[in-house]
Amino acid sequence: MTYFIIGSGIWGSVMAERIASVLRVPVVVVERRNHVGGNCHASRDAATGIECHRYGSHIFHTKIREVWDYLTKFTRFNSYRHKVLIRHAGRTYVMPINLATINALYQKNFTPEEAQNLLQEESNRAFPAEARPQNLEEKAVSQIGRPLYEAFIRDYTAKQWGRAPVDLPASIINRLPIRTSYNFDYFDDPWQGIPWDGYAALFARLLDNTLITVRLNTSYEAIKTEIPSDATVIYTGQADALFDCVHGELEWRSLRFEWETVNQRDYQGTSVMNYADADVAYTRIHEFKHYHPERTEIFESGHTVICREYPSAWTSGGEAYYPLNDARNTALYERYAAMAQEAGIILGGRLGAYRYWDMDKAVADALRVFETRIAG
Ligand code: UDP
Repeated sequence: MTYFIIGSGIWGSVMAERIASVLRVPVVVVERRNHVGGNCHASRDAATGIECHRYGSHIFHTKIREVWDYLTKFTRFNSYRHKVLIRHAGRTYVMPINLATINALYQKNFTPEEAQNLLQEESNRAFPAEARPQNLEEKAVSQIGRPLYEAFIRDYTAKQWGRAPVDLPASIINRLPIRTSYNFDYFDDPWQGIPWDGYAALFARLLDNTLITVRLNTSYEAIKTEIPSDATVIYTGQADALFDCVHGELEWRSLRFEWETVNQRDYQGTSVMNYADADVAYTRIHEFKHYHPERTEIFESGHTVICREYPSAWTSGGEAYYPLNDARNTALYERYAAMAQEAGIILGGRLGAYRYWDMDKAVADALRVFETRIAG
């Protein structure tokens, strides 16, 4: 039995590793880009040596022990813990919302308990206690009230998704914790970091097995007819495209990156600065050297690489970054998932599963699918 895995992102690469090292059978990984790793891909900027995450910042973080134990067999992580700042109306605040954010916006020195009381009062004013939030805006104002929502969530979200927050699923905002302490971490997860020698090295080690063949610059379309009829196809591309979008297209959100090398030691003092307001077209600026403070020579050098992230509409054939998990798309996805099941094709990864997963969720899912559907 041979396995063909379409797509070498983190889900596909973990699956390839498991099949080759546990089942000890051949795996062909088919990748349309000229590199493996999907959107986790990072490479060093030739002029400055700074390692740049080519599809936006990827910070590994998890609370799933099994995932941490698995990945640390393939890489060591540095001790980076993600922190994000946000610019609003000419001032800089902490994101996600914590006690420092609340105190700065309200110009107070609330204690945690006073801040909790304030959020409760704001929430009562903004949203009926007995009602259930139906969309992202209602969910956010029911948690933090209007002033914080309007400052840090409303316009950022509209830029990010190209839709008003009332037209977005509430689940998106569940990703952000709300804190009434001075915890400055972006993620709650105990295990965090950036691969010590980079994402490219991590993927090279995952795929380093004589049973694994990687075919770069190759689309599924181009290779389809070569796949033997008894091979198993595991597909991590867009599920609708697999079936020529016969029931219609799934919706996605895309991104555009604008890169710049700046002759300064430190451009913004942190790895990610969000821009909350509608008058700035980008949502954030990434400054990659901050992910590796341990690379002291590069860190201290007089150059830095930054990248402005602009959300953009997804058009057919473009790069899909975010699924839009509303009711219409979820129902449509289910039709394609049923077609895949019928055809004996296993779907996986953020694109194939149509899920807004972080890296750790993709790894956890690949390990689960391997155990239940491949090894089992
Ligand atoms: N969000 C926001 N303001 C911010 C950061 C995030 O309103 O400063 C909202 C926005 O709707 C976004 C969601 O929270 O899509 C999830 O943010 P996260 O940082 O998890 O998004 P990602 O890094 O996956 O793009």
